[in-house]
Amino acid sequence: MSTRLGIIAAMPQELQAFLQAMPDEHLQRIGGREVWVGHWRGHEVVAALSGIGKVAASITATLLIARFGVGRLLFTGVAGGIGPGVAVGDIVVATELLQHDMDASPLFPRHELPGRGISRIATSPALTHALQQAAQHTLGVTQGQRVHTGLIVSGDRFVSSRAEVQALQAELPDALAVEMEGAAIAQVCLDFGVPFGVVRSISDRADDDAHVDFLQFVAEVASPHAVAMVDSVLQHLSPTDTI
Ligand code: SAH
Repeated sequence: MSTRLGIIAAMPQELQAFLQAMPDEHLQRIGGREVWVGHWRGHEVVAALSGIGKVAASITATLLIARFGVGRLLFTGVAGGIGPGVAVGDIVVATELLQHDMDASPLFPRHELPGRGISRIATSPALTHALQQAAQHTLGVTQGQRVHTGLIVSGDRFVSSRAEVQALQAELPDALAVEMEGAAIAQVCLDFGVPFGVVRSISDRADDDAHVDFLQFVAEVASPHAVAMVDSVLQHLSPTDTI
């Protein structure tokens, strides 16, 4: 497996911040996407925007693996906190991902990926551990913010009402956060056998205030945190290590 690392950002502000950490990146355009190939802390890195939603994210992940040869993948972004105590500014590291809007019942159980026999896809333990350490390190000096580790759920819907959150909590009580891409990238990585990790800054509580100050949060909190976390993971990962 290639040691090239794919880094997918959900938000343009995050990608811009990543590019500043890459001294030698060059641009390739494909599929309406801008893909940046270069180095970060001596690692071969390919960085791109996921685009919003599961289809866009799947295309990006597939391109990075099949066209750019990445052998491991990190995904950063923002998400709505839906688990108890998962607050704005906290960081959630995924151990598994699920598509909350996948429903091929009655042919398959609710949430199950048809043909796969599973509904949850596990992240790479090694990358997840590295992200957890990086998240702790990144939040280190700030007071009150926490790192959570567990289930992130994805669907093609910006969740922004208390009723929707309650419905998700009822059917997936261990879900910590909701977003729109992670489980799609997980499915691509599963199909290609590529280890991956997903980390999200909590931008909102997925309730009726979810849109408030969203862009400001991305610019001022989520992007610097994403850069710090990826940088910290790369600092501790050997460029020749294949996890
Ligand atoms: N409403 C925002 C952005 C919408 S897209 C705007 O006006 O710009 C939201 C992005 O953030 C997606 O990439 C998604 O993965 C993530 N996200 C953050 N909070 C979310 C929530 N409550 N529900 C779903 N996705 C969320």
